[in-house]
This record gives sequence, structure tokens and C-alpha cells, in this order.
Amino acid sequence: MSNNISRRAFLGGSGILALALAACGGSSDGGSADGAVYKIATDTVFAPFEYADVDGTYVGIDIDILAAIAADQGFEYELEPLGFNAALQAVQSGQSDGMIAGMSITDERKEIFDFSDPYYDSTVCCAALASGDIASLDDLAGKTVAVKTGTMSESWALSIQDQYGFTTVQFDDSDVMYQDVIAGNSVACFEDTPIMAYAIATGNVDLKLVAEVESDSEYATPYGFAVKKGENAELLAAFNAGLAAIMEDGTYNEILEKYVATA
Ligand code: GLN
Repeated sequence: MSNNISRRAFLGGSGILALALAACGGSSDGGSADGAVYKIATDTVFAPFEYADVDGTYVGIDIDILAAIAADQGFEYELEPLGFNAALQAVQSGQSDGMIAGMSITDERKEIFDFSDPYYDSTVCCAALASGDIASLDDLAGKTVAVKTGTMSESWALSIQDQYGFTTVQFDDSDVMYQDVIAGNSVACFEDTPIMAYAIATGNVDLKLVAEVESDSEYATPYGFAVKKGENAELLAAFNAGLAAIMEDGTYNEILEKYVATA
């Protein structure tokens, strides 16, 4: 029951923040050297990297890293929690200046985005109902699995779909995707391992990991901050400089520990 309450709070929170952002979004034109405000897109529900707390304030590793880097480098930004796929589109269309969303650095994405230095190693996994009878990828034959639009874990699922004989249904948000499995509509979902492991460890979902790619897989790549290719070079340089500074002075480790400690 408390799980449902916190999930509702997350969804309500993103609405509140969106209003707050709309109210203070009048003067931003991109760029920061001239005192303007960068628009940084992020995911809606991707704990512990970004999520709304009970007050509707966005928190998480990405959110705190961005805040620390902006403070170190002296730039201003407006956070736009759009959802992962919407954030990809917003940066590509120039509506947002950059994105931080547990975004995997891939060669394919490097064709359309410029990435910062990597800041967190990740892999992708498959999860199913904790109490159910799906124990491995072999059990997915003839079944429907849930994937998140535009993500690496979706790419992994599609790459093994024919081999294991499942069909996929797409979702834009991680929490809605988990609910589809919990409701029994899909038998499993595909997700980034740190996110799925955190949701399981915090008791938010009654799921278990059933498979994970090897750490040297092409689907296991670190997270980076991204801008549209060839645009916002100044923002990207500031992000990299600030990232190096917060890794050096211990702030980065403090941020990671904060979110592990509250798990
Ligand atoms: N790391 C994954 C990707 O980049 C998922 C990111 C997300 O869902 N926020 O595709």
C-alpha cells in the first residue's frame, strides 16, 4: 500500500514541478555566458537518478550532479522532466539544450549527440514477478514483455526477441512499465540494472532480476550528459570541467553515497 502511495506522489510531483517550471521559464534563450538559462531535459521516474520526492521536488544522482556542476561552473539551468524518449526528441529538435537522464553513451547516439565524459557504469537487465514462474529468458517464449521506448534495454530486448520468441509492448515511463508486469499484462520488463535493482531493494516493486547482459556487452555502456551534436559546446565543456572538479573534491562520491544510504 505504501508503494502505491509513493508512486502516486511521484506522478503528482512531476505535474507540480512542470507548473513551477512553466512559471519561471520566460527569459531563457539558451547559452549561459550572457546570463541566460540552459534548458536541461531529464526523465520523469528513474530512481535513484531522477525522481520527484514527496514534495514534488526533483532529486537523485543526476539532479544533484547537475546542480553541483552548475554551481562549480557558474551556469544557470532550468530542469525539464520530460520523460526519456521525449528528452531525446527535445534535444535533437533544439527545444532543450542538453539532457541528463541516465543516458547510455553509444556509438549510434554519437551520430546525433555529443556526450560528456562518462560518469556512471551501467548494464541492462530483464526482470519478472518475484513470485512468478519466469526464471530465465528461455521462459519468455510466446509471451509479451514490456520495454521502455528509445532505451538501451529496449534495444537489447529487440536484439534477442527472435531468439527467445517473445513480443514487446512499449511504455514511456519506467514505473508504468513495472506496473504492467505487476498487473500481469506482461510477464517481464527490460530496464537498466541499477534502476531495477534500486526499485527492488527499496521495496517499490515486487519483481526479481532474471537476466543481465555481460559487463562487456554493447548494451552495457556508461551514462553521460548529452547535447545535440555540434551544438552547445560551451555547456558540454562546462559539464566536463565541473564533473572533473566534483570527482576530485569528493562531492561526486558524497552524492552517490547519499542515494545508496537512503535505499
Ligand atoms: N540508460 C538507458 C538509455 O540510455 C535508459 C535511460 C532512461 O530510461 N532514462 O537508453
